[in-house]
Amino acid sequence: MNTDTRNMEMKIVSRDDSEYREYFQNYNSRIQRNPYCYVIPRSEIQCKEALKYAQSLGKKVSVRSGGHSCIGMSVLDDRVSIDLREMNDIQLNVSDKTITVQSGVLLKDFYETTTKYNLATAGGGCPTVCIGGLTLGGGSNYLSSSYGYVIDNVLEARVLLANGTIVNCSRNGEYSDLFWAIRGAGHAGFGIVLQFKLQLYEISPLVFYQFLVIPFSDFEVSLERLLLYSRTDRNADVHLTFECRKTYKNISSDPTLKIIFFYNGPAERGEVLFQDFHQNVLKGVGRTMKDFQSHKSFMDIIRLGPNPELIRRSFTKNRLVFGSDLNRDRIKQLKSHMTSDIVMGDVNNRWPIFDNQTNFSIVLYYHGGKQNQVPPTDCAFIHRECDWSLVGICSYVQPENDQLFSQWTDRVQNQFSEISSSIYQNYPDDDPNIDWRQAYYGSNYPRLQQIKLKYDPNNYFSHFQSIELPSHPKSNL
Ligand SMILES: Cc1cc2nc3c(=O)[nH]c(=O)nc-3n(C[C@H](O)[C@H](O)[C@H](O)COP(=O)(O)OP(=O)(O)OC[C@H]3O[C@@H](n4cnc5c(N)ncnc54)[C@H](O)[C@@H]3O)c2cc1C
Repeated sequence: MNTDTRNMEMKIVSRDDSEYREYFQNYNSRIQRNPYCYVIPRSEIQCKEALKYAQSLGKKVSVRSGGHSCIGMSVLDDRVSIDLREMNDIQLNVSDKTITVQSGVLLKDFYETTTKYNLATAGGGCPTVCIGGLTLGGGSNYLSSSYGYVIDNVLEARVLLANGTIVNCSRNGEYSDLFWAIRGAGHAGFGIVLQFKLQLYEISPLVFYQFLVIPFSDFEVSLERLLLYSRTDRNADVHLTFECRKTYKNISSDPTLKIIFFYNGPAERGEVLFQDFHQNVLKGVGRTMKDFQSHKSFMDIIRLGPNPELIRRSFTKNRLVFGSDLNRDRIKQLKSHMTSDIVMGDVNNRWPIFDNQTNFSIVLYYHGGKQNQVPPTDCAFIHRECDWSLVGICSYVQPENDQLFSQWTDRVQNQFSEISSSIYQNYPDDDPNIDWRQAYYGSNYPRLQQIKLKYDPNNYFSHFQSIELPSHPKSNL
């Protein structure tokens, strides 16, 4: 994969080209950018050329893999936007259970390849996220209880540095410090990560996946019991998700409450564990079990992930939390966001424009198990003790509602920040009141600054939340 086998010319789309607007594809359409041009390399050599081209123009670059950054960090104004969508080679090595993937590989293509051989590793929940952005910030999904974050499974990476060289980094090699930094802060200004080699594991052809729809009135009791269950000595290969969502197909209906129980192992064993979970956690809770096949291939579960036909505007807020910090009062407050005046009010009068594509959600993803068994100094990803990721999302279509819906997220943010100050860097936050250095990297930040100085001493790969040089704190803007 290191040699350039494709001789096609590197594609450049400039502001005068009719394709220019089409090339801007950000998962969050609320954020629009106007880069100097897009460059779409198809090989490592073309990535080097793209970087050289930007530098010859005296321009900085922005780097995009799948464009899912919730604050639009992958395409920036007036930059040469290096778009890695065509850097999508995959090489699977079944015998040594490893895979080598370029950054622009879509998660669904990644798992399509591995699951054919009953192999997989940790990843994400959205089929159209790319390996690049997902891995550099952590990467967590149903398999993470068993295998940790994606960063815990990176064996090697190839990085294009600001001086135009490509280096191979790994845990014990010459560039072990860079390897440490890119696992958790790889999107924060060290270089362009071109390729990863990842560890795979054997998985069952059919795993267990079941979701339960629970009455909204049981929000408190079901979440309390779920959090308790997650701390008991249960099977380590169970993953849990709690999701409350208000949609507007039927305006007057309550928000929907859903618990997803996933077991990474033979589906029959999952069935037994699920019965136990059911009896202990959901005893007395009014519930409707969805009538569908719970023995599924892992690929079928990935296909269930968000895959919208409609590009939406969104606000996303996140905190990594200790489940034990979510006491009854805090749980009640979380619930109250789902019935606030903005969510439940007379939408025709309250909202500037009614938009039935709107969703408000509060979601808790389990981040415990293997993810917590790695020391916080093992790589730049410091959040090893928090066992849940708490996410508040509002997604919608009509721009007229931006201001009102931002108020909902501000309230959510206010509560979240009382619970925790740790933010999962895969859900970055552009709120100027947040100390992102502390929130994403904590005490690992000074070490990251030293590594930045070594590999990018002129601060070429900088953006509004990149690691600052030690001598110039807050010098990136
Ligand atoms: C619908 C949805 C579902 C999600 N589900 C999950 C989930 O289940 N688990 C989870 O962990 N996360 C999840 N996320 C968060 C997601 O992992 C991050 O948004 C991730 O950064 C997206 O990767 P990307 O390549 O698509 O994004 P991009 O927007 O392309 O990149 C994100 C950041 O990484 C930088 N970057 C990208 N590629 C490179 C590279 N090759 N070299 C250097 N820098 C690079 C970009 O400049 C940008 O700053 C979800 C996000 C969305 C929108």
